[in-house]
Amino acid sequence: MSTTITHHLTDALLMSYAAGNLPEAFSLVVATHISMCDECRARLASFEAVGGAVLEDAPECAMSEDSFAATMRLIAGMPAEARIEAAPETRGLFPKPLRDYVGGDVDAVQWRSLGGKLRQAVLPTARDASVRLLYIPAGAAMPDHGHAGMELTMVLQGAFHDEDGYYGPGDVEVANEDLKHTPVAAPGPDCICLVATDAPLKFSGLLPRIAQPFIGI
Ligand SMILES: [Zn+2]
Repeated sequence: MSTTITHHLTDALLMSYAAGNLPEAFSLVVATHISMCDECRARLASFEAVGGAVLEDAPECAMSEDSFAATMRLIAGMPAEARIEAAPETRGLFPKPLRDYVGGDVDAVQWRSLGGKLRQAVLPTARDASVRLLYIPAGAAMPDHGHAGMELTMVLQGAFHDEDGYYGPGDVEVANEDLKHTPVAAPGPDCICLVATDAPLKFSGLLPRIAQPFIGI
């Protein structure tokens, strides 16, 4: 992808991802960003190498007598198609990891209106955290909010800015308890973001607070 990504994943997130410790919702954002960002993919590889070194130094643990032969028999018995690499895909807006969750590209998203032109689609994941697609019309503002936990926001289309900076396609904003912000979608294409949270957001305005249980953010 030719876009210039300036806001990257933190080392802590990449390490947790490499260790397999992230909630599914956050893993999806990390995997989606990694698929667009050479820099973070390289940093992830170095963290994975650490894991590989740990494994290589770990004491060996014998498996049952027949394990190797049994595995080879299973491989030999697999249908031929299963061993053929999938053909390279035609590119849409959504990178592969995200497309797997949506079941297609943007046209396959099951949007729900949040009022006005604001829309969201919650993606199915384990319940320890949640991840959703947000559709914010160009120029529109999200209600200003704080965070009870961590929030990862990755831009897929368009751009937004808040108190902390300007975020374009591929950029990730990592927000935590300390950040209270009002994201505003930039002019141009409507903004589509992938947002993962591990705790409900804390809205400051009365109306969003009333609407929150219905919106499910
Ligand atoms: Zn990156």
